[in-house]
Amino acid sequence: MSGSTAADCELCEAARFTHWYHEDELCWVADCEVCSVPMVVWQRHGASPSEAEVEAMLATLSAVAAARFGDGAFTIDRTMRQVPTHFHAHARDEHWWAERMSRAMSRYTGVGGERVTR
Ligand SMILES: [Zn+2]
Ligand SMILES: [Zn+2]
Repeated sequence: MSGSTAADCELCEAARFTHWYHEDELCWVADCEVCSVPMVVWQRHGASPSEAEVEAMLATLSAVAAARFGDGAFTIDRTMRQVPTHFHAHARDEHWWAERMSRAMSRYTGVGGERVTR
């Protein structure tokens, strides 16, 4: 994907450290290392994907979050606090803040499949 990434952007770097739920040409979904909840990240560096792309990415994130937390048991957070220049969104369950420190971190075992914690 030459030309679509930025140096020194941790989302472009896309380190495979936590569980990866999904990856396609548009986006990838993995556990956020800070929040321990699923996060969708655009494959391209930039803050403004098209509306259709945003819709598709949030749909992918919602499907992942529904599988992990249950239907309607999460909210989509589009605030780009960590990296304001690269589109990403979190799916947060209601316990994420209280449990973010105590939840076992997941680890990368390939895209999809069982979520394995450390
Ligand atoms: Zn980036
Ligand atoms: Zn996070």
